[in-house]
Amino acid sequence: MKFTPEQYKLPDVSMQPFLDDEEIWSFIHAARPSLEQVEAVIARSLAKNRLNLAETAILVNATDPEMIEMIKAGARALKEKVYGKRIVLFAPLYVGNYCSNNCRYCGFKASNKKAIRKTLTKDELIANVKALEEHGQKRLILVFGEHHTYSPEFIAETVKTVYDVKKDHGEIRRININAAPLDIEGFKTVKESNIGTYQVFQETYHHPTYKVCHPSGKKSDYDYRLTSLDRAMEAGIDDVGIGALFGLYDWRFEVLSLLRHVNHLEACYNVGPHTISFPRIQDASEYDLDDSNHVTDEEFTRLVAILRLAVPYTGLILTARESEATRKEVLSYGCSQIDAGTKLEIGAYAENPDVNQNLNKEQFKINDDRTLAQVIDELLEADYIPSFCTACYRKGRTGQHFMEFSVPGFIKKFCTPNAMLTLAEYIMDYASDSTAVKGWQVIERNLADMDDEGYKAELMNRIERIKQGEHDLYF
Ligand code: SAM
Ligand code: SF4
Repeated sequence: MKFTPEQYKLPDVSMQPFLDDEEIWSFIHAARPSLEQVEAVIARSLAKNRLNLAETAILVNATDPEMIEMIKAGARALKEKVYGKRIVLFAPLYVGNYCSNNCRYCGFKASNKKAIRKTLTKDELIANVKALEEHGQKRLILVFGEHHTYSPEFIAETVKTVYDVKKDHGEIRRININAAPLDIEGFKTVKESNIGTYQVFQETYHHPTYKVCHPSGKKSDYDYRLTSLDRAMEAGIDDVGIGALFGLYDWRFEVLSLLRHVNHLEACYNVGPHTISFPRIQDASEYDLDDSNHVTDEEFTRLVAILRLAVPYTGLILTARESEATRKEVLSYGCSQIDAGTKLEIGAYAENPDVNQNLNKEQFKINDDRTLAQVIDELLEADYIPSFCTACYRKGRTGQHFMEFSVPGFIKKFCTPNAMLTLAEYIMDYASDSTAVKGWQVIERNLADMDDEGYKAELMNRIERIKQGEHDLYF
């Protein structure tokens, strides 16, 4: 029998709900990992292949300590082989906490009468951005509750205001968004304001749990949320972030579902998500769920190592929800971005920094409240290169994470030198004397590792220009 070209074509599943709970569970139930299988799956990842659902199911079912150690060692090896030593830093800026949803885990939910509601005025927004710039921040994620006042036009206007704020040598060079899902027109409006990544987390991919956790409001529509990043793609935003809130349901199911979401976006739009987030539930005002799906520290570190191996070319974001110790371990598995100097209380960056955390003003509690300066100092001590690089996005090199991974020498040519340039700029503008000493040492060590003498000379020349007062140099 002969097929016409039309019949060879796969059906277009873009904008269609794609997650089947039973299918996900069937992969988990089918996997009975042996040491050899775990080894083989890790080898496939180290050979730069994205894992499929069956392979990832082998990793999530591996409970033997020897297998777990192999998985963690595999993630560390992948990080060293592919990503090098740089860690990109950012800060979240909560713009407003009005919300019409009732997510049972969130302090901003509409039914929480104790929550102190606020949307930053334009002046307050500017004051907060100036305060962030005074510490050296260059990359922000703006966070919003889901409320009709936070319209696409409002979000776009907020983005423009933030980009316009300049304090001394400070400026914000990349703004990501974490806000409610929009329709295609809405995403187009926000895109025009020149955003980086648009993040929407599914929270839990498990249908019954989703229903329990999101009893009312727009967010109660599972499918509308699941297809939100399809709409972003249709609107031309090809830089999107997915995530699951760990602790709502079985973590193994969520890991496989995140991968299913990656598959879906790759199949429909030829590009996977730019980043994956894996927030773990923290205590919040009027928190209203049992902890039967609590994810232990051991499970959490394991699931991050598994995600690293499953999607070797996707950025992994780790937040200050986690403690310093957990962050330290997880960084070694290849998280590429962390927040630092984080404050969740609305307006807190521009207010008295010593106020104690007040759960009624925040979305949830954080566990790492170190300042940006402290985080940078500690990253340098651990031989990482703290980076504020925004070069790819500004040079129009889209699909950056994929290129880092797949283009030989990309990291050596762009990422590491750019990380060094932004670090040099930070040292000149903001670092204490002792941090500066550590910072220059890290730069020297990384320069010594460079083998292309011509490129190294150009980089040294640019570092010298930064020392003479120039800013914003990048390759
Ligand atoms: N309102 C928008 C939404 O729900 O998508 C965007 C902002 S919401 C403030 C950002 C994320 O915070 C949520 O997607 C959720 O994963 C996370 N979150 C909510 N409550 C949390 C809690 N108690 N602990 C940790 N993370 C939480
Ligand atoms: Fe509102 Fe988002 Fe909190 Fe849900 S998670 S209550 S949508 S702010």
